[in-house]
Amino acid sequence: MAESKKDYYETLGVSKDADDAAIKKAYRALAKKYHPDTNPGDAAAAEKFKQASEAYSVLSDSDKRRQYDQFGSAAFDGSGGAGGFGGFDFNGADMGDIFGDIFGDIFGGGRRSSAHYNGPSRGANVRTSIRITFEEAIFGCEKEIEINYKEECATCHGSGAKAGTSPVTCPKCNGKGKIMYTQQSFFGQVQNVQTCPDCGGTGTIIKDKCPDCYGAGYITKRKKFKVTIPGGIDNGQSVRLGGAGEPGTNGGERGDLLVEAVVSNHPIFKRQDTSIYSTVSISFAKAALGGAIRIKTVDGEVEYEVKAGTQTDTKVRLKGKGVPSLRNRAVRGDHYVTLVVSVPERLTEVQKEALRKFDDTMNGIAPEAEKHKKKGLFK
Ligand SMILES: [Zn+2]
Ligand SMILES: [Zn+2]
Repeated sequence: MAESKKDYYETLGVSKDADDAAIKKAYRALAKKYHPDTNPGDAAAAEKFKQASEAYSVLSDSDKRRQYDQFGSAAFDGSGGAGGFGGFDFNGADMGDIFGDIFGDIFGGGRRSSAHYNGPSRGANVRTSIRITFEEAIFGCEKEIEINYKEECATCHGSGAKAGTSPVTCPKCNGKGKIMYTQQSFFGQVQNVQTCPDCGGTGTIIKDKCPDCYGAGYITKRKKFKVTIPGGIDNGQSVRLGGAGEPGTNGGERGDLLVEAVVSNHPIFKRQDTSIYSTVSISFAKAALGGAIRIKTVDGEVEYEVKAGTQTDTKVRLKGKGVPSLRNRAVRGDHYVTLVVSVPERLTEVQKEALRKFDDTMNGIAPEAEKHKKKGLFK
């Protein structure tokens, strides 16, 4: 929940009846003063810049301003209080128009990338995959994976500079990471800010590179990680290992490692969500007479009593023999078995004779057809 009350007019320093031009003028002045590019590393300025941008994004839009006048800033905090605008993201794409509009004015360069502050930035996430068996996906497992892992260089401790030397202040930007120049534009003289091309925005340059990491500050090694795969994971789902991704820059935290499970097919079991499916064939004598059979499940074999007169394609449910729920391992799905009556293809003379005798007792008509015979459907 955001702060309960935000006075956007006060933030911009304008009166409640200020017109669009006055609001734009006030924001331009604040944005210029507090923009992170002109105040590198200044958190207070960055916060003021953010607040001013938020205020402007609402007050510059006549619909949003009307909502704000009526409901206050709660209409924009995404909690849906006053039927507002859902999650209005002041840091994201919704700011595109404003950046294009205002920053185009101020800096003359259209929308600028905000990724070039001197501040810390988080490392990227790394993705990998691991093959596991059908059973491992159901019951969970411990696995070890080996990945390319960027580790801080022990020789230079991440600085990238050769031993005995240290990175020096970039002479082009004097350590600011930015270079500014003034330009004549439609709005008069404007200051342009650009990431320093010599140091790439870091404010320092390495004269003598560390021979072990060639100035990168890290070394890529093969590293092993233990991955705990939770029972119930499905093909394509990932396990997250926090902090095992790429290193951050300027003291930013590492990204995460995402390990995707690739589940092998099982020769007899099929799975959908938490249900398992299989097919079991039974002899036609067993189907007719009934009796105990053994059915394979992921928990091992279970005994099942076939009812006398079971037809082929009869579905049987083995409750709780399916896949555990990822959220709650105590909850398990079911195993559905399709019983298929198998007809023997080769018979001995003795067996044939026995079947003929049996058939004579049925008058050559399948038992279920008897009722049709009585109705005169069979001749
Ligand atoms: Zn090094
Ligand atoms: Zn520089």
